[in-house]
Amino acid sequence: MADPTGESPPPRRPAEQGGGRMAPLARLPVFFALEGRRVVLAGGSDAAAWKAELIAATGARLDVYAAEASPALAGLVAETDGRVTLHARDWTPEDLKGATLAIGAIEDDAEGARFAAVARATGVPVNVVDKPALCDFAFGAIVNRSPLVVGISTDGAAPVFGQAVRAKIESVVPQGFKQWAEAARSWRPFVAALELGHHGRRRFWERFTRHALEAPDTLPDEALREDLLARARSAREQDGRGSITLVGAGPGDPELLTLKAVRVLQSADVVLYDDLVAPAVLDVARREAKKTLVGKSGYKPSCKQDDINALMVALAQQGKRVVRLKGGDPMVFGRAGEEIAAARAAGLPIDVVPGITAAQGAASRMTVSLTHRDHARRLQFVTAHARDGKLPVDLDWTALADKAATTVVYMPQRTWGELAGKAMAAGLDPHTPALAVFSATRPEEFRVAATVATLKDRLDAAVADKFGGRPSGPCLILFGFALGEAEEFALAEAEAQGLAAQG
Ligand code: SAH
Repeated sequence: MADPTGESPPPRRPAEQGGGRMAPLARLPVFFALEGRRVVLAGGSDAAAWKAELIAATGARLDVYAAEASPALAGLVAETDGRVTLHARDWTPEDLKGATLAIGAIEDDAEGARFAAVARATGVPVNVVDKPALCDFAFGAIVNRSPLVVGISTDGAAPVFGQAVRAKIESVVPQGFKQWAEAARSWRPFVAALELGHHGRRRFWERFTRHALEAPDTLPDEALREDLLARARSAREQDGRGSITLVGAGPGDPELLTLKAVRVLQSADVVLYDDLVAPAVLDVARREAKKTLVGKSGYKPSCKQDDINALMVALAQQGKRVVRLKGGDPMVFGRAGEEIAAARAAGLPIDVVPGITAAQGAASRMTVSLTHRDHARRLQFVTAHARDGKLPVDLDWTALADKAATTVVYMPQRTWGELAGKAMAAGLDPHTPALAVFSATRPEEFRVAATVATLKDRLDAAVADKFGGRPSGPCLILFGFALGEAEEFALAEAEAQGLAAQG
């Protein structure tokens, strides 16, 4: 069901990929179509019987060569009405000719090696059971909802782990997917024959997939098919028109994407993404989507907003589904307003999929509530970075000095010292707990805890220590008495008490 349109994805030029090359791949999962093909199995043990059962399930014609067959193997042969043939003799090189695959359930090392060598010389991919060095391919663990098949490999590193992963996938792939995958197969020629166009077909299969995911245990029937077709047809006039969707990528951990974000990313033609978007999030996008980095990280060279708007609009006008992927939530310090206006001015449909803000991501990782009945009745997000890169002059200093607020400072890196000084001058308690969070929710997340008065020095020292002076990764600063609940402060307090007791 991975590509239910049945169309091969357009060829991708490597240069278009943008979002980093594919990570090294220990094994290439390929799914052999064996129906009606000849497969050779040498050996008569119970291990041979297991493999015979597996191969027989694919509809292959299996020739088993075994001077002696175990009862399990003999039983299987009897049950498979003619598709598995048992030749009651040892294998010979001649037997491998014309085979699609060769499997040896052969304990003896030398004999196994001879089998592998003959298979390779004959041009037949070979597997000798339990002898990885003699194998061209491995049998993965399987989750079977045929025609939907999931194969799992650990490259031989940890079969038990592989089995556990299989069990996990078993539990989340509903049994009903089998019916949906079967329906997709039988409806496909029918849908392809209608003049729906590429987008129409894709809409059909997207709706189909949504139904499958929402109600996997209902049967996809004719009425549903007609309904999906009617909808795909009625939307046809929109064909050729692209669309723009602003999608919140969240702070970095891909598991924080919304289901909607995942769906939209998986049907994108083009993804225009910011520096702030974590690579792990980009990996969720459709592999064939063209991924283009469009800038903008505070102080590095970046694309101009006007150029981004123009590119986004031009691509959508070419009929592309454009996903504009932005760190955190698109509507928070993301210049979404300008992008929405550009789309509207061009008469293009625009949608927004919200994301988890960096502030929320950071709070969840610190397991601290940003509001608190005793400490924080107000939550404010401010930016410390004006158009010119300096501290904005029009921040509300009274609000920033509010004892009963939690403040989240976005883009604080250059101007934090000045902001803290001005807020204290406006009455902010210097002892207010303050925390800097780098790369919240990412594997490299890193936090510095202090007070509003001491954070600048601590931060400078930590940055010098950790990044050699140049901060790397996005950073947020949060301050307010609610943050005093964070573990960091409990530890600092315990340490201070320990020191006091010693002293
Ligand atoms: N739309 C985003 C904010 C974009 S502004 C949101 O909703 O969170 C860019 C700033 O966000 C960065 O300079 C940094 O202050 C903050 N930021 C984004 N991702 C972050 C992360 N993973 N960790 C810490 N700060 C982050």
